[in-house]
Amino acid sequence: MITHTLGFPRIGIKRELKKTIESYWKGNLSEEELFLAAKTLRKKHWQLQKENGIDLVPAGDFSLYDQILDMTVTLGAVPRRFNFEGETVDIKTYFDMARGKAKQGDANAMEMTKWFDTNYHYMVPEFEPNQTFKLSSEKIFEEVKEAASQGHNVKPVLPGPLTYIFLGKETKEGFNRFDHLDSILKVYEEILTRLSENCEWIQLDEPILVLDLDTKIKNHFKETYERLTKAAGSMKILLATYFGALGSNEDLTLSLPVSGLHLDLVRAPHQLDSVLKNIDSEKILSLGLVNGRNIWKTNLDTAISTVKRASQALGKERIMIAPSCSLLHVPMDLDEETALLPEIKNWMAFAKQKCKELQIIRDAALGKDVGEELNANREALLSRKESSLATNKSVQEKLQNISKEMLSRKSPFATRREKQKEELNLPLLPTTTIGSYPQTKEIRQIRSKFKKREISEEDYKKSMKDFIREMTIKQEELGLDVLVHGEPERNDMVEYFGEQLKGYCFTKNGWVQSYGTRCVKPPVLYGDVLRPQPMTVNWIKYAQSLTKKPMKGMLTGPVTILCWSFVRDDQPRSETCKQIALALREEVRELEEAGIKIIQVDEPAIREGLPLRKKDWEDYLQWAIDCFHITTSGVNDETQIHTHMCYSEFNDIIEWIAKMDADVISIEASRSKMELLKAFEDFHYPNEIGPGVYDIHSPRIPSKEEIKSLIKKAIEVIPLENLWVNPDCGLKTRNWDEVIPSLRNMVEAAKELREES
Ligand code: GLN
Ligand code: ZN
Repeated sequence: MITHTLGFPRIGIKRELKKTIESYWKGNLSEEELFLAAKTLRKKHWQLQKENGIDLVPAGDFSLYDQILDMTVTLGAVPRRFNFEGETVDIKTYFDMARGKAKQGDANAMEMTKWFDTNYHYMVPEFEPNQTFKLSSEKIFEEVKEAASQGHNVKPVLPGPLTYIFLGKETKEGFNRFDHLDSILKVYEEILTRLSENCEWIQLDEPILVLDLDTKIKNHFKETYERLTKAAGSMKILLATYFGALGSNEDLTLSLPVSGLHLDLVRAPHQLDSVLKNIDSEKILSLGLVNGRNIWKTNLDTAISTVKRASQALGKERIMIAPSCSLLHVPMDLDEETALLPEIKNWMAFAKQKCKELQIIRDAALGKDVGEELNANREALLSRKESSLATNKSVQEKLQNISKEMLSRKSPFATRREKQKEELNLPLLPTTTIGSYPQTKEIRQIRSKFKKREISEEDYKKSMKDFIREMTIKQEELGLDVLVHGEPERNDMVEYFGEQLKGYCFTKNGWVQSYGTRCVKPPVLYGDVLRPQPMTVNWIKYAQSLTKKPMKGMLTGPVTILCWSFVRDDQPRSETCKQIALALREEVRELEEAGIKIIQVDEPAIREGLPLRKKDWEDYLQWAIDCFHITTSGVNDETQIHTHMCYSEFNDIIEWIAKMDADVISIEASRSKMELLKAFEDFHYPNEIGPGVYDIHSPRIPSKEEIKSLIKKAIEVIPLENLWVNPDCGLKTRNWDEVIPSLRNMVEAAKELREES
């Protein structure tokens, strides 16, 4: 009954890897220094896992940028534009692929996108016809050797070939990326054969086995794993699945000729029974019992009884014990958190603590005496369950009392629209922005000084008001029709609200990799959500007092707050989301009372919260949209509700977006040159819409003519009277030198088109 992990956080407790890589990029560190730092971190992380009870440690899970990019490099699948020649891909080419090449005939970075339903982003493999593949990196062999030389029992980890190809994209038409399966498998075979000389196990990750797969893809599995098993010789293949249940792919998965199978029993505990019944008598089963996606302690008693059940059915030699998925998605070490309330801290476990949990589960299942540890775990869980910190009667009552009226606006859109027209008196093609303006050094300095208590609250407020005033004046000068206060007080659109809501706490070093060297520190929602006082009203009220034009109130929506936090696991996500919505509802109402006529509720994360299986979509979308209504339905018809979404695929959820019934939606569209609007046209999207006409990810200043032609494209598909003019997203990452001329062109473009029509 060995314990193992599927992968471990690599960024380092103080984000050492981030800092090292970034100083290498700046030219302050040599290649040798970079490699040495990486090696030191690997050593530390293996050591840490071993000390905390892990028998079999992973190698190959470490990466200087992304493990899928590593696989791309290993297969020699470097896109042509990076001009790779030679035997092995060098580090410069590697980072060019990740970040784009600025000189020598410019080459864009490879695209990145979300890894399943996590907040981790991988680099999308690119395929074209007649592409060739050959082993072009020694990384996996070197890391295995490294771990072994440090005395570890090591298991190489690679993305499985089918998941790898599935997650890629064709860059040319007229072929299918799975056409390359045979050539790619040849490289995998070579890798496996070489590894088999030194390793007992290899882990191949095929998380696509928890998705709805079409028959064509399913049909590839058998042959693929027959070939790989043969190539692996005496080395055993552990096929890892996670993030959900095998469901309709269960028979297929169990029929594959691999030596072991890993199941996610946190997300999908129910699949164990049928797997135990149907698994053949040779296979090893790895039980994913400790949540690799969240930061709470495991219920050890439950986990132990699961292990006992499995080992009764299969025999204890055939059981492995593991986290549900790679620990990449949780922070590294809770011991480093010195500022958390001890009571709350005692409910949590980070990667290191999760390793320890695995050890206790195993020892208990083998009949060793771990009574003390189990008691401590029971006490912690009980304390969490009964804590007055986490429960609030009045919140729970409010949750029970969500009425039908709260799930829609008082009147239909047509009625509201007439009233809002009268109230707001806006021109055709009204112009606005999405919320944030450049977060200058000054702004960040003031915020950080206030956080460190180096300046008084009074001085802080005064400075913020100065920023708001400057930004309001700038917007008036530009001639925008609907203004925003600019969000100078917000470090992050979720953290800002989390900090003011009861039920939230924050870590000091709870870093999780988002992409490359970028890390986030998700706030932790541990209890019932309460809004002790207004969160934005004073800022917005002040901003409105400076202008006669309408000032938008600006809120982050409940689903986005939920998706970008670590949330409690002791109640359904939908309940937690509704609590957040109820708190925001009060804020919306107070904004209205304060005379704010337009309120925007941003939901950029609504699409990424979608469950992996289509059958679960409706349930999710229903409560997600309910939460939007709970947030916004308390206002009068005259108050205009906006929402904003960006950087996702919206075509397949357009009918749900329409059900949100926001008076106006602003949506990123300039990168796809308005193609996204096709979905809105086909659906006859009824309400007003502002497709982005300014790509805010680029420092480039769009010309007036360019913007005009984008708006004209939009006019072709959306009725003119429904159209707004705005950038793709918030402007916080830009600087004023870019923003002013860009917005000036945008306003001019709108004005000219207004006159022409
Ligand atoms: N209002 C936010 C801003 O402008 C929206 C950000 C987002 O969509 N991610 O920054
Ligand atoms: Zn956005």
